[in-house]
Amino acid sequence: MDKKSKGNKCVYFFGGGKADGDESMKNLLGGKGANLAEMAGHPKLKLPVPPGFTVTTEVCTYYYDHKKTYPKELKAQVKRSLEKMEKLTNKKFGDEKDPLLVSIRSGARRSMPGMMETVLNVGLNEKTIKGLIWHSGDERFAYDAYRRLIMMYADVVMEKAGGIEVKNGKGIRKILDEKLEHIKQQQGYTSDTELTVDELKALVKDYKKTVKKVLGSEFPADPWEQIWGGIGAVFSSWNGKRAIEYRRIEKIPDEWGTAVNVQAMVFGNMGNSSCTGVAFTRNPGTGENKFYGEYLVNAQGEDVVAGIRTPAPVNEYSKNAQSEHFTTLEKLMPKQYKELDEYQKKLEYHYKDMQDIEFTIEKGKLYMLQCRVGKRNGVAAVRMATEMHAENLIDAKTAIMRVAPNQLVELLLPMLDPKTEQTNTVIAKGLPAGPGGAKGRVVFSSDDAVEWAHRGEKVILVREETSPEDVDGMHKAQAILTTKGGMTSHAALVARGWGKCCIVGCGDIEIYNETKTFKAKNGEVIKEGDWITLNGTRGFVYEGSLPLVDIDIEKNKSYKDLMKLVDEIKVMGVRTNAETPGDAAQGAKFGAEGIGLFRTEHMFYGEGSEEPLFLLRKMIVSKTEGERRAALNELYVYVKKDIKDTLLVMSGYPVTIRLLDPPLHEFVPHDKEKLRQLSEELGIRLSVLKRRVLALHENNPMLGHRGVRLGVSYPEITEMQVRAIFEATAEIIKSGKKAFPEIMVPVTCTANELSHQKKIVDRVYKEVCETQTVKSIPYLYGTMIEIPRAALKAGQMAEVADFFSFGTNDLTQMSFGFSRDDIGGFLPNYLDQKILFDDPFQTIDQEGVGELIKIGTERGRKTKPHLKVGICGEHGGDAESVKFCHRIGMNYVSCSPFRIPIARLAAAQAAVQYAGIKIDNYTAGRTNGYHIKNRLQKRQLELEHA
Ligand code: PEP
Ligand code: MG
Repeated sequence: MDKKSKGNKCVYFFGGGKADGDESMKNLLGGKGANLAEMAGHPKLKLPVPPGFTVTTEVCTYYYDHKKTYPKELKAQVKRSLEKMEKLTNKKFGDEKDPLLVSIRSGARRSMPGMMETVLNVGLNEKTIKGLIWHSGDERFAYDAYRRLIMMYADVVMEKAGGIEVKNGKGIRKILDEKLEHIKQQQGYTSDTELTVDELKALVKDYKKTVKKVLGSEFPADPWEQIWGGIGAVFSSWNGKRAIEYRRIEKIPDEWGTAVNVQAMVFGNMGNSSCTGVAFTRNPGTGENKFYGEYLVNAQGEDVVAGIRTPAPVNEYSKNAQSEHFTTLEKLMPKQYKELDEYQKKLEYHYKDMQDIEFTIEKGKLYMLQCRVGKRNGVAAVRMATEMHAENLIDAKTAIMRVAPNQLVELLLPMLDPKTEQTNTVIAKGLPAGPGGAKGRVVFSSDDAVEWAHRGEKVILVREETSPEDVDGMHKAQAILTTKGGMTSHAALVARGWGKCCIVGCGDIEIYNETKTFKAKNGEVIKEGDWITLNGTRGFVYEGSLPLVDIDIEKNKSYKDLMKLVDEIKVMGVRTNAETPGDAAQGAKFGAEGIGLFRTEHMFYGEGSEEPLFLLRKMIVSKTEGERRAALNELYVYVKKDIKDTLLVMSGYPVTIRLLDPPLHEFVPHDKEKLRQLSEELGIRLSVLKRRVLALHENNPMLGHRGVRLGVSYPEITEMQVRAIFEATAEIIKSGKKAFPEIMVPVTCTANELSHQKKIVDRVYKEVCETQTVKSIPYLYGTMIEIPRAALKAGQMAEVADFFSFGTNDLTQMSFGFSRDDIGGFLPNYLDQKILFDDPFQTIDQEGVGELIKIGTERGRKTKPHLKVGICGEHGGDAESVKFCHRIGMNYVSCSPFRIPIARLAAAQAAVQYAGIKIDNYTAGRTNGYHIKNRLQKRQLELEHA
């Protein structure tokens, strides 16, 4: 906005059935202002909104860009608008007989509840109060309004916006509040409403004196000074500490600024024919299509929000345990309730979404003060979206856009009872790695977790960090809490895969293994066996055993309806990462269209792994190829069974089987006792075994002898795995069933590695076809892209590979140079100081890592246009990352079973948001195991013609 230019519209008026603005102008008028304009002025609404005006967000930006001054047109426009308000209300601002009083409220583009300031009853002074007394016929009411104005004004305008430093941690609001409380205590009153007129008069006098004494200047009597003070204070509250912090969390840009709404006051506290209330067009807790709300007789709006008095229900439906004996608004004021009910229906129909409404009845006349899209929890969001779709209020695309993908988590996992959470203290906070709620008794080692669980105890495993050796204990525990590690640390990854509640990187606690205790930041000491409860969705730790609420997704009709719409709309495939046939079945239950990552090494961890692990160890410490082959031959039986079981569970859907990835020494025991046992079992001397183990040691195993490098050094390892895959597939096919394996080579950086391994694959393929007497075995050969060089050289990689799967865990690690297991140590500093805005291991860094993915995909498809491309890093279950994958044109995403519903919904939303993106159905259909080819093609055609 230019200071000198003429004709700048700074102020938008609404009222009297007309409005300058409308609902589409949220950026300029803020959410509140735009909706007030819509309610007041839209021909189909024209609801009784008290007149007022909105000072635009542009004025706020101007204010900050010009040393807290206003554009010169503003003054005249405010004055003109106030005159219009005077005309419509038949009152005069600053008038002694019948004064117009106004409220001044903030209103940003996106709601920032309670983060900015409000001043009510502006325009009152020693003279105008006489008019208010005359008009209301209630002296008590008038002085109550006056003392509220002085308190709010002193706090918001004079102290906060005036930048006055608070002394001894006690602000002016607190000081004035204590004076009110003092009178109540002296007189034995329980509520503010018991104060007499004389007491209120004395209080007003005292307030004014105190304001002068504490803040050094008088409370201004001039109504115009009050108005400008109020407008300035709202603008300055945009940069208040709370608002800045909230914007950081909600990712609201600082440049947006807030609008200011100045509106004629109406009073819900003018006696028993007045009231004020808040209502929702549907139940925001359950989603049920019933009008739901609360009100307070003889009260101002802030009383409902502040929770000072228990509100009454607007109707029978809204009654709860605390309010069941209260009179409903429907009974108390039937005419006004009927009118309100009519407006709420109109508003929901108009906005086609659940509305959150504020209303006031002043001496029997109903006014609508606010409406906005109502906040709702996950359960309610899904129900409202699907029911509104069934009612033909919204179309399928709108319905699926109404649910935030992460809200689905609430439908899938047991949760902490939100009511109990409110009344308990959080003793520590960490990273929310595995959502849902869990409670159990604290144990500090994996062995203890197994042992206690065996006794029937519910336990929570508390560790500094976890390793593959802890898997058994982790599995047995209700939840996992670690003090170190980030969102893709071992604990986080494993827990998410199981849908287990997990908090990692919880630096607020310190573990003392010697005493089997941990100490929380607040000094609380928790001993082994003590109960704690975790909220893994928020990363909160509570002491004691708090109640959980269980959820069975199969019984949730709304969820099923939503997923039906999702599958009709999405074009990208969604697969699951699965390590066991059990995971695979869970993934399929959640709607996975195949397995995108089967980490073969997981058969060496946890329950039933003793024998294969022993054989693997035997193979690892072998000295000669002959010894190694002998061990591999024994291991082969287990590997084949594992693969065959998984292929069978997925009955023809593709299963991406990754060849052995981790550095071998990870599987070798390091403690003395276990080494001794192994030497005995292997029949070699302990000193010999120790030497062999030592030889395997690496300084940096993550960048060491792992992935394809193992297959290059020991081709017989690749050979054994590939033989197991082909034999299992051939056997399944011969039995008349379907199987579709995809062999995936990990940690590659050059096409030569792929060619090297492909030779082994081709040879074994021929051999198995002969021994199994089959003409062909369906399979694909591909690679993970998880090293930046592989992405850059994707054109050459694609000459050998049929598919790429982006391993974004390692790709992120290697692009940033951040260790995925140690990022927890410094990430909070990076986020706090806005060096990074998100954890790159949680959501794809679209600018950097994303560019590598884009380059890799483009170069790969340049070589092979139908190259199938997917993702199998943890990001495959993150909604924003899934949408990114759609934009890049990937064929599928793959994620942990419990994140599949999120990924499906995000994929469908991406198809709506980026409808022009083409997904290659030829490859998507082919590799998705025949089942979905036709549907995908049909859908693609529809989108292209949409
Ligand atoms: C990856 O690196 O993204 C990946 C899926 O492999 P892993 O997590 O097993 O290293
Ligand atoms: Mg990897």
